[in-house]
Amino acid sequence: MRNVKIDMEKCTNCRECVEVCPEEVFQLMNGMPVHVHKEKCIECDLCINICPEDAISVVTH
Ligand code: SF4
Ligand code: SF4
Repeated sequence: MRNVKIDMEKCTNCRECVEVCPEEVFQLMNGMPVHVHKEKCIECDLCINICPEDAISVVTH
């Protein structure tokens, strides 16, 4: 399974990852994006490519 990880120290809360993800892997919790449904990830890399802060990385298992 693939796990996308957000580095919260880099994240500026622009929410583009939340908007771009076709599988709604990210949801906002207390206004910050959290990858709550990582099992739904189809590995499209859209979130990684759109993040302006390079805050999203992939952890493979
Ligand atoms: S796209 Fe990047 S900077 Fe923007 S909310 Fe998502 S992780 Fe944070
Ligand atoms: S790689 Fe694609 S499906 Fe997976 S979390 Fe990012 S945007 Fe969503």
